[in-house]
Amino acid sequence: MSGSSVLSFEEARRVVEEQSARIQPGQTELVDLLASAGRVLAEPVVADRDIPPFPRSTRDGYAVRSVDLAQIPASLDVIGEIKAGEKPDRLLAGIGIGQAASIMTGAPVPAGADAVVMVEYTTTKEKSVEIARTAAPGENIVPRGAEARQGGVLVDRGTRLSEASIALAASAGKSQLQVYQRPRAAVLTTGDEIVGLTTVPGPTQIRNSNSYSLATQIRDAGGIPVLLPIAPDEPQRLRNWIEEGLKSDLLLMTGGVSMGRYDLVEQVLTEMKAEFFFTGAKIQPGRPVVFGRCGAGAPAREESGTYFFGLPGNPVSTMVTFELFARPMIEALAGMSPKKLAFVYVKLKSEIRVKTGLKRFLPAVLSGEFENSRVELVPWQGSGDIAATARANCYIVIPPDRDFIAANEFVAILMR
Ligand code: AMP
Ligand code: MG
Repeated sequence: MSGSSVLSFEEARRVVEEQSARIQPGQTELVDLLASAGRVLAEPVVADRDIPPFPRSTRDGYAVRSVDLAQIPASLDVIGEIKAGEKPDRLLAGIGIGQAASIMTGAPVPAGADAVVMVEYTTTKEKSVEIARTAAPGENIVPRGAEARQGGVLVDRGTRLSEASIALAASAGKSQLQVYQRPRAAVLTTGDEIVGLTTVPGPTQIRNSNSYSLATQIRDAGGIPVLLPIAPDEPQRLRNWIEEGLKSDLLLMTGGVSMGRYDLVEQVLTEMKAEFFFTGAKIQPGRPVVFGRCGAGAPAREESGTYFFGLPGNPVSTMVTFELFARPMIEALAGMSPKKLAFVYVKLKSEIRVKTGLKRFLPAVLSGEFENSRVELVPWQGSGDIAATARANCYIVIPPDRDFIAANEFVAILMR
């Protein structure tokens, strides 16, 4: 066996972040803008012109010189109307002393004007307008280039494309984007008692559910799951499947990492001269989680080896340890820029009592409405209880030194 190293949650997470920072993203491909949601940008999107390309009125109203409104009410001569999209030809000379132009939201503010007064504060006369309010210079105008400068980066390489970044790309005229190819993550389930979905399980057999939760999480993180067959708790056959799994960009194994006599994953990987970064984390669920790297993989990755996780087999442990540790590796392989794990703070609905010593990530429900949301634990039978976790929509994070948290205290949660 390797020298075992059980880290605190934070130490283990940092180790993963350090390793993920060393990953070089893979090949790229060109995709249509509409197909780019959730993909990771491989080259920056650059502004092809200033945004906005002209000083833009943010209101319907009158373009004015703010100095003309020192005394109010003020009466100004209306010299024209500017619609959105219209070139204000007649107003090229600009707004002079005592003049105003009627202007619409999104229209270019003419030269000379330095503010827009909302139509609500004006009374239109035949050829003039009476204005009842003063205006500060710049009011209701976004200056040319205030949102982005021509040639400036609108969306960084490594960004996972959301509706907002896709809108930005569209505003720069990009109908296609260069994105990274998705990494392949092999999933290897281990255990003599585990059977596939097409098998009628014997009385003590358990259907494989972890491969499916993991495949779902891998996809969500931006990867392609590659499901391997169920490996038995027998060293040679386990080794064969591990070697197969190491040909992918990442190998996720579930089961076989606890202290039992048939928990062989670490032993086999040690025989394969794997490097272990940690062999446990002080968390619940998921304490026996293993993270390492092994060289006997794909030729392309021979030099550094393929990263692997041994995730504990209990289904909730598998899901939680994926979120905490495997997700950042998949995201890095997918080309995403690293990000820290941030918790959200929410008021607790009913008190919690636990033992100290482990950082806990317990299935919980965030409910309530608007600003009155509250979170509470879902009653569960421990880390094998998929039903409880399926009713949950988040995990409450309990620090290892807390054995009691009172109702209405703020607690950290990890969203699912
Ligand atoms: P292990 O980590 O191998 O000791 O397994 C811990 C528990 O998780 C045992 O009760 C296993 O039966 C269960 N388990 C392991 N792998 C799976 C799987 N792929 N799907 C569902 N349950 C599993
Ligand atoms: Mg097992």
